[in-house]
Amino acid sequence: MKYQPVIGLEVHVQLLTESKIFCGCSTTFGAEPNSQTCPVCLGLPGALPVLNKKVVEFAIKAGLSTNCSITPRSIFARKNYFYPDLPKGYQISQFEDPICQHGWLDIAVDGGELKRIGITRIHMEEDAGKLVHGELSGPGDGSGVDLNRACTPLLEVVSEPDLRSSDEAVTYLKQLHQIVTWLGICDGNMEEGSFRCDANVSVMPVGSNILGTRAEIKNVNSFKFVKQAIEYEIQRQIDHIEDGGTVVQETRLFDPNSGTTRSMRSKEEAHDYRYFPDPDLVPLVISREWVERSRLELPELPEQRRQRFMDKLGLPLYDAEVLTASRALADYFEAGVAAHGNAKAVGNWIMGEITRALNDSGTVIEACPISPGLLAELLTLIDNGTISGKIAKTVFDEMWRSGKAPQAIVDEQGLVQVSDSGAIESLIDEIMAANAGQVDEYRGGKEKVFGFFVGQVMKASKGKANPSVVNELLLHKLKG
Ligand code: ADP
Ligand code: MG
Ligand code: ZN
Repeated sequence: MKYQPVIGLEVHVQLLTESKIFCGCSTTFGAEPNSQTCPVCLGLPGALPVLNKKVVEFAIKAGLSTNCSITPRSIFARKNYFYPDLPKGYQISQFEDPICQHGWLDIAVDGGELKRIGITRIHMEEDAGKLVHGELSGPGDGSGVDLNRACTPLLEVVSEPDLRSSDEAVTYLKQLHQIVTWLGICDGNMEEGSFRCDANVSVMPVGSNILGTRAEIKNVNSFKFVKQAIEYEIQRQIDHIEDGGTVVQETRLFDPNSGTTRSMRSKEEAHDYRYFPDPDLVPLVISREWVERSRLELPELPEQRRQRFMDKLGLPLYDAEVLTASRALADYFEAGVAAHGNAKAVGNWIMGEITRALNDSGTVIEACPISPGLLAELLTLIDNGTISGKIAKTVFDEMWRSGKAPQAIVDEQGLVQVSDSGAIESLIDEIMAANAGQVDEYRGGKEKVFGFFVGQVMKASKGKANPSVVNELLLHKLKG
């Protein structure tokens, strides 16, 4: 039998607020254990949570950017379970009436077609603390609890089971990742867990419209692992069914070392958590005005910017996609275009030399040592014939190293392009005299030798001869 995989993702997005969601403690990563705590996030009796307004603003932005409607009156709920990193014995989350609902993202699937993936809901919640094993500074070598992360604000973005392959899942996830980092509400660091995903996977016979039983896979902290985990899980379920088994609803853990998933526990149902509205927090009322104000504050999103780069700046789709990979890159590109004017040329240099140099040096575009203005100056030197495209690469490397302006480098190193035909002509004469054999070959009809002469002249001029002048003169002289 043929099987159709079905996937739904639950993504946790850690918000970049300075303080926690229900208290004023700092959210800075990596501090001394338990140094960023207070009675609220320690869960001491009697301490009362107060909602951080910034979290609501970030949630609204995320919702509007994913086509959700913003719930006018949303509710916080207690999700009850026991675990040592959860001091209150419950997590404050949202259950009924989450802040954002009924959204979607359009993702590009095979062949460039768009497919709409539903977003069921986005809700706000607090993170739990962390267990620390065997590396405590205190006496003994047992496990300890670090509550610095407790009460850190999260958004949980839940998709509909609309994804049909691991590729679709990764595309959706990357798009969501791009949106939250673009909005500046999440740093997107998957390794540190700022953007983490649980993948729900099931299979059903092709043609069926009854979803199979799903397994929920935890602990997939890179795009590559998401793909691996889903693919493994699809095959595992198919093999199991083919062997006469039935898939049970459970929570599974992905093991990145083996690329496999293993059973962790049977899946808990909502009623196991005994959700109920948190009596310590009043319902969150969000006015239409607030939503509209947020909408106006939204930056131009990746999708829209990509489209504008194509429509207004005439970029091809591929270039527009690469140049909107991050907001900082798109800003850099636009500053370059503003300074130079030729979008295609600026784009090519960013996708070529700049990207290569950033990769080689492990630098991010935000810290690029060459400003967009200086890049534009370099391109202008090429445009007006001062230097050749080839010499420009040498100048570029020097700009990268020294931070100097391109004109200064050209002057210092005497790199000005030679277009003077007299000077080039005498170089050609010397080279033809020294390579009489090749001259005869060319004249005998072996036109390939032409390239040899171009190479020799360029070499003799240390790359400074204007290539089009060289070509023209060579053609003339070799014809004899
Ligand atoms: P819970 O919070 O208990 O994990 P939800 O009902 O909120 O459960 O669903 C979680 C996720 O599971 C959603 O992303 C949803 O799309 C996905 N999902 C639901 N049913 C299936 C299924 N049969 N196959 C794959 N994914 C599913
Ligand atoms: Mg879940
Ligand atoms: Zn606190």
